[in-house]
Amino acid sequence: MKNKKILISGAGIAGLTLAYWLKHFGFEPVVIERSKSLRNEGYMMDFFGPGIQVAKAMGLEKELEKKGYLFDRFVVINDHQKELGHVPLDEIRKMFDKRYYSIMRGDLEEILYKKIKGKIEIRFNTSIKTLKENAKSVSVTFKDGKKERFDLVVGADGIHSKVRELTFGDEKQFSHFLGYYVAAFIVPDQMDLGDKAYLYPEVGRSTGIYAIRGKKIAPFFVFKSKPLGRLSIEERKRILKEQFADSKAFVPEAMKDIDVVDEVFFDEVSQIRMTTWHKGRMTLVGDAGACLTLLAGQGSTMAMAEAYVLANEMNQAGGDHEVAYPAYEQALKPIIKKKQKEAVAFSDTFAPPGRFSLWLYRLFVRIMHRPFVLNRFFRNFNEPTVFDEGYLIKMPKKN
Ligand SMILES: Cc1cc2nc3c(=O)[nH]c(=O)nc-3n(C[C@H](O)[C@H](O)[C@H](O)COP(=O)(O)OP(=O)(O)OC[C@H]3O[C@@H](n4cnc5c(N)ncnc54)[C@H](O)[C@@H]3O)c2cc1C
Repeated sequence: MKNKKILISGAGIAGLTLAYWLKHFGFEPVVIERSKSLRNEGYMMDFFGPGIQVAKAMGLEKELEKKGYLFDRFVVINDHQKELGHVPLDEIRKMFDKRYYSIMRGDLEEILYKKIKGKIEIRFNTSIKTLKENAKSVSVTFKDGKKERFDLVVGADGIHSKVRELTFGDEKQFSHFLGYYVAAFIVPDQMDLGDKAYLYPEVGRSTGIYAIRGKKIAPFFVFKSKPLGRLSIEERKRILKEQFADSKAFVPEAMKDIDVVDEVFFDEVSQIRMTTWHKGRMTLVGDAGACLTLLAGQGSTMAMAEAYVLANEMNQAGGDHEVAYPAYEQALKPIIKKKQKEAVAFSDTFAPPGRFSLWLYRLFVRIMHRPFVLNRFFRNFNEPTVFDEGYLIKMPKKN
């Protein structure tokens, strides 16, 4: 049962982690990725919780330390770049016993990619066109017209998953738009930001900025909007410039080089909510089935947890997906549901809806660094993970 050939669509955080663990447990994963290479487009992420436990079990802690950033504070500023308050990231790191990293998404993907490169087949610049399941396998047609049979197919292809569309139907059924867009890009640091991180909240929008290696900055933008549909890179740039045209603080500087960047991450802030992640021989992992959004700050860590749990259940079930898929869902679905609810409740803090809520937010920011506030608001982030609550990361011998 175990020598199953499993197609993973998407070489993102979920797909690369899943490939590692499936191989570890004796399966035969093949990863396909739509992009020509690993994507560079990126943004800074907080990385803590179960993903750290999975990364540790993969022997990646040293790499995380090397690639991670140790910002001491996330400083909240006003129009004149004056500090209103700060999130003491160094204190939060202590609360997490140092298992809390700030890391660029591209760097985390690269760490995962290096771990499996040369050991697992990864095909870039391809994607699935059709999926046809029969009693014993799935017949997959790729975009170049080639056909191939796989025992199972996993969609790790993000919020706009093709595997989900081909298996469950139109994205509209599962996508819940939260009323915001998010954008991010990387440009040279012309502000001499050093090693600092700032957040500039305004009515209906926010801009964050991180100084990253190579004397560059990684700004991100969140703004309220009606749905905009799929946009070309030029449209993304134009809309961003329009949305933040009258922003102050560091925004004009951060926006200065947008016309020359090749990649601009730009997407709707939507959650994917599904009653089930599997159908027949297909299942989903990461944002494809359970997107939490950036508002949760935990999408990547949960993507890694899901990938591990799915591979482990496949191993426990001796490769029987009819047993493994429901067990995987049972272990994680309640946690995802809770985190999605929390993310929605948190959404106004990224783009305060009016002047009064911005005023309240700024008031709160002034006391954010105090220990009682930290304990109250960040305690939730440091809750036990699925792996502390009885679901163990097991390292059985390879078959
Ligand atoms: C601005 C921002 C900030 C965030 N901050 C945090 C944070 O602080 N902490 C945190 O934990 N999470 C954060 N997240 C969420 C996190 O980035 C995601 O939850 C995580 O990347 C999900 O990983 P994934 O592998 O499921 O999907 P993705 O990262 O979207 O990867 C999917 C992969 O599939 C590929 N693909 C797509 N379609 C196809 C196709 N048809 N065929 C083949 N391949 C395909 C894509 O190119 C990509 O490589 C943030 C997100 C954003 C946007």
